[in-house]
Amino acid sequence: MEHYDVAIIGTGPAGLGAAFTLLDARPGLSIVMFDRNEFSSGGLRNDCKMNFTWPVGFAEGVWTEDLAAAYLARVEDFLRPAIMEKRDVAMYARRAERLGARLLEIRQAHLGTDGGLELIKRLVARLAAAGVETALGEEALAVDAKARVIETASRSVGFGAALVAPGRASFGFLQRVMRDNGVAFSDNVVDMGMRVELREERYPVVRDYYDPKFAFPKKVRTFCTNSRAAHVVQEKYEDEAGAWYSVNGHAWSSSRPSNDLANFAMLKTVSLTEPLASGQAYARALGGQAMLLGGGRPIMQRVGDFRLGRRSTREAFNGDLYDFEPTLGSCTPGDLGLAVPAKIMRALWNAMKLLDTIVPGVLHPSTVMYYPEIKTYANKPVFRDPAGFMAAPGLWLAGDGAGTSRGITAAWASGMRAAESMAASF
Ligand SMILES: Cc1cc2nc3c(=O)[nH]c(=O)nc-3n(C[C@H](O)[C@H](O)[C@H](O)COP(=O)(O)OP(=O)(O)OC[C@H]3O[C@@H](n4cnc5c(N)ncnc54)[C@H](O)[C@@H]3O)c2cc1C
Repeated sequence: MEHYDVAIIGTGPAGLGAAFTLLDARPGLSIVMFDRNEFSSGGLRNDCKMNFTWPVGFAEGVWTEDLAAAYLARVEDFLRPAIMEKRDVAMYARRAERLGARLLEIRQAHLGTDGGLELIKRLVARLAAAGVETALGEEALAVDAKARVIETASRSVGFGAALVAPGRASFGFLQRVMRDNGVAFSDNVVDMGMRVELREERYPVVRDYYDPKFAFPKKVRTFCTNSRAAHVVQEKYEDEAGAWYSVNGHAWSSSRPSNDLANFAMLKTVSLTEPLASGQAYARALGGQAMLLGGGRPIMQRVGDFRLGRRSTREAFNGDLYDFEPTLGSCTPGDLGLAVPAKIMRALWNAMKLLDTIVPGVLHPSTVMYYPEIKTYANKPVFRDPAGFMAAPGLWLAGDGAGTSRGITAAWASGMRAAESMAASF
């Protein structure tokens, strides 16, 4: 059986942050990185907006502002991103404040999906040059921390220390790893909401602030705004209980022609208590309900139809007031009112009305609302060593799947933290 000092599952930002930190801290260690995809499929290759301001992307239960700031400075130093300027945002901030909302000021860089891919290629080449084995296209199926063995689809691999950082799309795999290794966890929080798509001219704040983060009452916020060459996409989630889609958004870098559209997520954080303790099971149920109503696809509805209380139809989806084609046209025109629980819908719609008062134009009849957008990042392992994200002897967990982050830079920082603890274990 092959043996490595360190095995890392996942080549997203958490895995990469860990690998580079280990190379620095313990240059002699043998390292293997597994990814079930041919390329790191993480957020680095999806729009790649990097946020460098607390608390964006950080899980506040396992981070403090000071700790995050210290790691963010190191992430920025390593990645050397070009931080974007913000202009003329004071007016929006004032309007938000008057309405009981808030505009967060974030230091941010944007590479775009194409720029992100270039970055991944450079990073993977650097790892290879440093002697790290990247086993791309090789899925890890199980981890036995006691025996220190990882089973992949094609082999058994021994390790001294393993970091499992499979992202939020693989929460089922991570839960299996935790169960198999006696790691207790909870997952009672989930973000549910929709993706909003509109003409860029109706959301001009994006020309001054690429990804404006507005926080509204009832734990609703805007998230992951894209513009210029912006597209809505769908992601498939699958587990033993079936498959469902979540929508998402990304944009190409500024070198691509603009399509004059913008999109952003409007998300509500839902915290569940007993007896329904699994946020992911809840998200799966709501995702399944949307699939049922959408005939196996996400649902989309024009704001004009929603306001009139009627479903959008394929025939009327591009009438004269509905003046742009949706970028994810494969969705089913339908009725969000049938799919979204009332409490979530009320909070989202209230936030949409506030946003339309801050940036008039958002609620133009043509604006498309896609549902569902689900963020299932909420596994919260009980760490044996919370400072280093060690869950059991020989086993570390980090990144979005393990609930230590919810964004690229925080995932990278989580990987660094885990790697420092792993390095100290040898
Ligand atoms: C479409 C989209 C756009 C996004 N845009 C942004 C953005 O602009 N800015 C931002 O900050 N965040 C963004 N995010 C969120 C960001 O992607 C995540 O916060 C971040 O990538 C989490 O890093 P991670 O390393 O924890 O997991 P991931 O990046 O998800 O990486 C996990 C990796 O593990 C691999 N993997 C999973 N299971 C296995 C297994 N069993 N065996 C082997 N490999 C496995 C996966 O293939 C994947 O490559 C976006 C996410 C999506 C989906």
